[in-house]
Amino acid sequence: MNDVSDLYTQARTWVGKQATRPTTARDPVNVPMVRRWCEAMGETNPIFVDADAARAEGFAAPVSPPAMMEVWTMAQYRPGGRLKDDSIPVLELFDNAGYTGVVATNIEQEYDRYLVEGDTVSFTAVVDDVSEEKRTGLGIGHFVTIRYEFTDQNGEPVGRMLFRVLKFKPNLAQAPAPAVADDAAKPAFPHPRPAITHDNAFYWEGIARRELLIQKCSGCGELRHPPGPACPHCHSLEWDTVQASGKATLYSHVVMHQPRLPTFDYPLPVLLVELEEGVRMVANGIDLPADKLAIGMKLDLDFVEIEPGYLLPAFRPSR
Ligand code: ZN
Repeated sequence: MNDVSDLYTQARTWVGKQATRPTTARDPVNVPMVRRWCEAMGETNPIFVDADAARAEGFAAPVSPPAMMEVWTMAQYRPGGRLKDDSIPVLELFDNAGYTGVVATNIEQEYDRYLVEGDTVSFTAVVDDVSEEKRTGLGIGHFVTIRYEFTDQNGEPVGRMLFRVLKFKPNLAQAPAPAVADDAAKPAFPHPRPAITHDNAFYWEGIARRELLIQKCSGCGELRHPPGPACPHCHSLEWDTVQASGKATLYSHVVMHQPRLPTFDYPLPVLLVELEEGVRMVANGIDLPADKLAIGMKLDLDFVEIEPGYLLPAFRPSR
């Protein structure tokens, strides 16, 4: 494994260079894809899907929602991960050095004009910056900034995007001492840790006692989750907690295939659980493989000890 300073030096050599190969959208701007994106986003402006509405606003044809600019050029989904050709080598450098965590921290887009039905978008991407090592709530890591320039089929600029991610090592600082004496038995990658803040500390302290606490507004009595400083209903900053009964139903779920982080088993079901108190939370399942998941099924709260002293709430099928 690279020494951290070597890694930084190596990563810095990418600054100013192409971050990934230039890419052209696989499909021109088209109404069927726009319609589905608008439905998913709750976007109802008719100029995106209706030729008459677009013409009334002075456009030759329906236009693409500006925020879809990058969507047209996204790499093809592949169960095995990105094609080598679509990879971003500067990010792989960090992956290979154990900085397996990734979180997007900034996305800024600028648009020069609306993309119109039939336009074909391309981009070029340049590594703009790699930060020194930073200590963050998620773990130590480096911010990597990539700038994308988008053009149309005539090579004319249509917009640009700044994209910054934090590549981090899952938090070692908060991990308890391993319970095993044998070095060979230590996990190479610790399970990712929650970022514990002033606002959510009560929740994690409850979990450590095997209690699932729900925040309750002292102003209006509304329950809320995840924890936050203010009530979204009445804006009161005063709150108390109630302990969840542990009875719940499966509201929805996804099954994660990618990206694959060490310490998790894939495919990985991720549950959206509705507690009987009415709030929803994201949680892991116990004895719940993907093919056993059924929306509406009854669930019971339990706790999983990921590492000694580190518990997570999880839900198992109700008996
Ligand atoms: Zn309230």
